[in-house]
Amino acid sequence: MTRPARIAMLGGTFDPVHNGHLRSALELRDALGLDAVHMIPAPQPPLRDTPQVSPRQRLALLETAIADTPGLKADARELERDGPSYSVDTLRSLRDEYGEQARLVMAIGWDAFLRLDQWRAPEQLFAYAHLVVIARPGHEETPSSSLVELLGEREVDSVSRLMAKPHGRLLHVTLPSAMAISATHIRQWLGEGKSIRYLVPEAVENAILHEGLYQRWQSVY
Ligand code: ATP
Repeated sequence: MTRPARIAMLGGTFDPVHNGHLRSALELRDALGLDAVHMIPAPQPPLRDTPQVSPRQRLALLETAIADTPGLKADARELERDGPSYSVDTLRSLRDEYGEQARLVMAIGWDAFLRLDQWRAPEQLFAYAHLVVIARPGHEETPSSSLVELLGEREVDSVSRLMAKPHGRLLHVTLPSAMAISATHIRQWLGEGKSIRYLVPEAVENAILHEGLYQRWQSVY
């Protein structure tokens, strides 16, 4: 019998994509034995005080970052949908694509996990996917009681227990190279004309500088 596909979704604004996202995706691929990690930009980031970069530009930076890395995919499906974008719709579309036996994982960082009970119909996520929460340095707050209640008995303590079923379980992971990089800081530093070298892939840095993204004025760099 062939092994069911193992697929993860890593959603985000990727505004812009950085090495924290990329190392997390790669190490998650290896830790869970995934066939593919779909990195899926959301259409509309919240209002920012730095210059706006379009969804297509964020996607293009993500494609540049991933290049031909095996198992990582820049996935435009949320940008192709009209109206607001909800993770549960994205998971449904991945489930349709990979079939009911696939092991589908929604991966989120600890900061996003803490806000999960504010999402639309969070318990519905488990009808389509497992939830894998990635520890993130600098984000150590504890979950609210409503979140703990929502998760009930879903938590398991190993990848094999997670992968025993197609969806519905929760696993916390700490990845080897946990990095304290955030897109907020990258936007801030670019806005101030500071260097972002070594925080994003070189090709992403070059594209950002070449196109003048996130910069209020021409930086001296
Ligand atoms: P911002 O600073 O603009 O909020 P961000 O750096 O948190 O952005 P997002 O695009 O919001 O990036 O993140 C997408 C997903 O990746 C989220 O689940 C987030 O928790 C996770 N993530 C982002 N940066 C890291 C990191 N350095 N390590 C682990 N997970 C991360």
